[in-house]
Amino acid sequence: MIWNQQVETLPRADMAVWQSYKIEKVIERVYEKSALYKKRMEECGLLPENIGGVNDLVKLPFTTRQDLVANYPYGLLTMPVSGVAYIHTTHEAESEHIVISYTRTDMTMWTELISRILVAGGVNMTSVFQFLGSPEEYKASLGINSGVQQIGATLLPMSTDSQMDQIHLIEDFGITSIFSNASYMLTLAQEAQRMECKPEELPLQNIFCDTKDLTGNQSKEIKQVYGTRPIEVYGVNDIWGMGIAGECHCGDGLHIQEDCFYPEIIHPTSGQVLPMGEVGELVLTSLTLEAMPLIRYRTGIICFLDDSPCNCGRTLIRMKKK
Ligand SMILES: [Zn+2]
Repeated sequence: MIWNQQVETLPRADMAVWQSYKIEKVIERVYEKSALYKKRMEECGLLPENIGGVNDLVKLPFTTRQDLVANYPYGLLTMPVSGVAYIHTTHEAESEHIVISYTRTDMTMWTELISRILVAGGVNMTSVFQFLGSPEEYKASLGINSGVQQIGATLLPMSTDSQMDQIHLIEDFGITSIFSNASYMLTLAQEAQRMECKPEELPLQNIFCDTKDLTGNQSKEIKQVYGTRPIEVYGVNDIWGMGIAGECHCGDGLHIQEDCFYPEIIHPTSGQVLPMGEVGELVLTSLTLEAMPLIRYRTGIICFLDDSPCNCGRTLIRMKKK
């Protein structure tokens, strides 16, 4: 099933037109409202009218995690704080705080993206969904609650430190869909076997894992013990959570939500944009976020893009591990 048929199966030529239109709007917005981006564009001798679409993005410098740290807390906000509906904060090291702000419209967008990705992974209105990510992952994964509910599935916001109790939760509540760490799912399978419960007989049908934490071997092991392969999803740690990209049932790469994020692949050292199919670092530009649009954000993820047709019917480009 496809949640948003119109967007997810949009002809690629039409998607390119949409992306170029949105890029122009985003650049106008950040030039006018963001001191950092205005300064950066002036340093490059650029005005908004010099960015006529996605092909001109290359003229602009990258945004890095360090830029977010340096502009704590509101330096990248393109509106008064009164227009912000939700603020997400994280810090990895002392004095390395990051603040990401969202408007109500941004939150609605995340609900939509979560719905698309969960449905692509097999969630439907009969599913019982449990989120077992870390508290940081949960905070960053905006829209999980509302996405699950929008689909009409049942959300179980419950967890336990006991693996034995977790097995019982899955059995007792009939949990069919779960977001969890891959290594935890393998540990849980061992606990199930110790309890003389066969993991493949648990009601789990859709196991969502963060692609950054999932190795090829873990994927095979999860498939072996649970009888269902893990569905890989992608979000940028502590900035944009689950909702950027996710696998469909074909399991041949993660469809990027291109109407909201424009992807580029660059050479990690030179920064040069690489052609379709070449391996490099993923760079994302947010096309629809209102409160804090980020231009050419370097994700640090190494992958390649594939824009060939997918058997699921979605036309959204796919990111694949090398
Ligand atoms: Zn697909």
